[in-house]
Amino acid sequence: METQMDSFRMFLAKQAIKMGNIAGIWKIALPPLEKVAYKIMIEKGDRIKNGSYYQREDKYYMVFNVLRAAFKAYDSSSPAFRNRITNIFIKEFLGPTQQIVKQEFKEKYGVYPPGFITISPEGRCNLKCKNCYASSIGSNLEKLDSTTFTRILHEKYEKWGSWFTVISGGEPFMWQDNGIDLIDIAAQHPEQIFMVYTNGTLIDKARAQRIASVGNLLPSVSVEGFKSETDKRRGEGTYRRILDAFENMRQEGVPFGISITANNNNVDVLFSDEFIDFYFDKQGAVFEWIFQYMPIGRGADVAGQLSPEKRREIWFREQELIRQKRLVVADFWNSGSLSSGCIAGGREDGYLYIDWKGNIYPCVFVPYWKDNVNKLLSEQRSLTDALFSDLFSGIRDWQLSYSFRKPPETRGNEITPCFMRDHHEQAHNHFIKTGALPGNESAEICLNDCSYLNAMKEYDLELSRLLDPIWEEKYRQ
Ligand code: SF4
Repeated sequence: METQMDSFRMFLAKQAIKMGNIAGIWKIALPPLEKVAYKIMIEKGDRIKNGSYYQREDKYYMVFNVLRAAFKAYDSSSPAFRNRITNIFIKEFLGPTQQIVKQEFKEKYGVYPPGFITISPEGRCNLKCKNCYASSIGSNLEKLDSTTFTRILHEKYEKWGSWFTVISGGEPFMWQDNGIDLIDIAAQHPEQIFMVYTNGTLIDKARAQRIASVGNLLPSVSVEGFKSETDKRRGEGTYRRILDAFENMRQEGVPFGISITANNNNVDVLFSDEFIDFYFDKQGAVFEWIFQYMPIGRGADVAGQLSPEKRREIWFREQELIRQKRLVVADFWNSGSLSSGCIAGGREDGYLYIDWKGNIYPCVFVPYWKDNVNKLLSEQRSLTDALFSDLFSGIRDWQLSYSFRKPPETRGNEITPCFMRDHHEQAHNHFIKTGALPGNESAEICLNDCSYLNAMKEYDLELSRLLDPIWEEKYRQ
């Protein structure tokens, strides 16, 4: 049955095609569209699929903040970006083809496929940032080969209807295999968008020109604050190199965003007006992804993660940035209402993560695995097989029992959505029960260390004490 979201999709598609280019919508049709969408998505929205009134509002603001930001960036983007992104938006997002592929997958496997994947093709990094999960194996020379990389991209597009890929690392722009690099991969897959988490220091003028010419690769550059915070964690001179990368991208018409990792020491700077004005208004960032330090990887430190009090405080600030300032800002944990909770384990519209060794994890922040993509492909199996391991399907069962697709009255708190961080005892038991393998030495230590488990349990109790009242008050109706 056609849903209200489908009718809205069709309406958008017709407008886009009629007008011949997407930018026209910004100038002429966006204000009335926002009104129509508000009625469809919020006043008449699907409570089971999209949650309570407040939750549907969260989703509405994110969709339209993205559209506003995209149309604003359109004029200063390179011709390749304009063409590629417009084509992908019309064909893949608004068009019917990928919906048909997803429906066929559902008929075959009984569940909808994941929406995207994150791949780290390269474990090495040219920086050595404190507490980076990648840097715990920073000297490792393993990398994903280009044939496997391409097969993964092909399978997810053809079999899952997935046209969005996140690239992480190591430093992704260091990856090369068989004479091709990441920008070549993006050029070979014009039907897909690649969002690349990078430290930015390798985006010189020549690389910015190449990114501008392919038009489907969006860099998200990590910053720690201003000069002192960035150079302290990432090394002297890093901040200057990042500002140079921004300048190179602006000159070449490459839209870009920033990503931040909040901890108790830098959180006040990262959420200040000064920070937001500098990166969005002066530097021209189009979006911001907010991560909170996760105690995994080298030197996992539970006490180093953002305190429950600070996490509560930034939830209110994030709401202000999204609802009043209308910015594209999303927090991997606090914004769980946008994605209807945890998206790990290859959930419908969710994702999985593949590292440079080919190990397949439920999430970037869940360092436990069972399947390896190199092994699966060598056995004439496919990436899809990994979705049905007990590790993955158990996580999807947990999501369904906790909140996913539940009515607002019984839906678990989706601003504490995280299987790994916010409900760690259940995650820990699941890893033990399924015999999941740790992805690195630190993950192995955490799995067997009672003090780690107890500290995470205490954190979760306090988190729930502070954030559950917000959920009860705002998200139940
Ligand atoms: S496990 Fe946590 S970090 Fe990973 S997708 Fe779920 S909520 Fe997000």
